[in-house]
Amino acid sequence: MGFMNKLPIVFLFLLGCSSPDFDLIVEHGTVIDGSGKDRFIADLGVKNGIIADIGDLSQKTATERVDATGLVVAPGFIDIHSHATSGSFNGSDVVRRPDAESYVRQGVTTAMGGQDGSSMLDIGSFLDSLDVHPAAINIGVFIGHGSIRSAIVGEENIPVTSEQLTQMTSMVEAAMKDGAFGLSSGLEYTPGAFANVSELVELSRPVAAKNGLYISHIRDEGGRLLESVGEVLEVGRSAGARVQVTHHKLIGKSRWGGASASLALLDEAIAEGVDAASDQYPYTASSTGLTILFPTWSKDGGFEALVDRLNDPTIRKQIRAEVIQHINAERGGDPATIVAARCEFDSSFNGKSLADILTERGLPITVPGAADVAIELVSAGSCSGVFHSMSPDDVETIMLHSKTSISSDGGIPAMNEGVPHPRSYGAFARVLAYYVREKGVMTLELAVYKMTSLPASQLNLEDRGKIAVGYVADLTVFDPETIQDQALFGDPHHYATGVRDVWVSGIPVLKNAVMSGTHPGKALRHHSQQ
Ligand SMILES: [Zn+2]
Repeated sequence: MGFMNKLPIVFLFLLGCSSPDFDLIVEHGTVIDGSGKDRFIADLGVKNGIIADIGDLSQKTATERVDATGLVVAPGFIDIHSHATSGSFNGSDVVRRPDAESYVRQGVTTAMGGQDGSSMLDIGSFLDSLDVHPAAINIGVFIGHGSIRSAIVGEENIPVTSEQLTQMTSMVEAAMKDGAFGLSSGLEYTPGAFANVSELVELSRPVAAKNGLYISHIRDEGGRLLESVGEVLEVGRSAGARVQVTHHKLIGKSRWGGASASLALLDEAIAEGVDAASDQYPYTASSTGLTILFPTWSKDGGFEALVDRLNDPTIRKQIRAEVIQHINAERGGDPATIVAARCEFDSSFNGKSLADILTERGLPITVPGAADVAIELVSAGSCSGVFHSMSPDDVETIMLHSKTSISSDGGIPAMNEGVPHPRSYGAFARVLAYYVREKGVMTLELAVYKMTSLPASQLNLEDRGKIAVGYVADLTVFDPETIQDQALFGDPHHYATGVRDVWVSGIPVLKNAVMSGTHPGKALRHHSQQ
């Protein structure tokens, strides 16, 4: 009898506890939806990780309500050029530091690795392992041309045979099948620099077939900028691939003001029907290895071969002459603009410019003196460097182009290790703080568009990058009056501030400016959209 009596009570209890309308309501926020349209005040309802409703949800129920009064609610930012996956499979930033705090605290929820021609070759296994051990943010990858060339041809400056090209092409095909978003190249690095345009066109065909993206660190960002941009556009024209000039910039003081000519080339190609775009990090300094100062021929065969050449007095003299020429032509002849960011062999060099090192030694600051220091550092094992060589006006000109996305070109640094470029900690916050709030270069709506739906469309991410019903609830809540990059050149290890909450697929990764320690990020795989 007791059993029979209990049944109706259980039934009534279930009726009274009908599940809430949403898992989460973010209410009263100022929504900037990522499309570029004007902001509006609304509540967002999230259910099962998806944005399920937008509007006045005051009468609806939710497991959790978060008040965003006075704050901006935007789609999570998408970093279309990231080094989060650079390095070995288990040595990559995102595997070692899956909280991705430098990204999360800027509102970034997706990072695209495999850049500059350098990636893991087995993209399928990497993405599978991320499915099992995800990060806080979503990760996607490109397949790197340089890595493929290195595996099939080696580090030498030789043309590919047709057999090798076939092998390389099938590797790109396999990567695209495994979910790569396209092909990346790094033509200012070896062995990428040894490829001619027809090699890049052939390898971009399988990318075009899947409507992927060819994203290129171009051959020369200084004196030969226009022909280098032209080469990317040639790949677009001949292979039919969508193309992107990544971290678009113009290096060298003597050329300042020339960025608009490069954008005009892009516009011309777009008018012809080439799907061409750019991305940019918002700084006037770049960052890469100190070997960038050295001529390409001296790096033929890889780093060891370069060191061997430096040990030969005759060849060393020739290299020195070209390094001097490079510093004069590309770096404005100013050794203070070239900074040794991180030297594995001796950390006492970290953060010092070539001018600082000369001064420390009681030597005059001259270009030949700087070349000698650069040769010494590279011979000892090389360093990563920071190079102050872009015009503030050119940076703004490129940023304002309608097809320029914001990217970081940074990774997920280990706190307090070395003196990396501040972009890893600050790129997205800096655009919102400096370029939008302080300088008024563009509206907040336009900046958010360049961080969300523009890169999402470049990547064919059809359900991310916008606040709209049916989109994945990758969201960030920030204060436009206080958001600030805190990382400085020479003192970069500071997280950005002003981002209060971040959700990835509706799961909080940052709550009231405290990291949640959750890892809801997805391994993203490209879906071809024809
Ligand atoms: Zn690059």
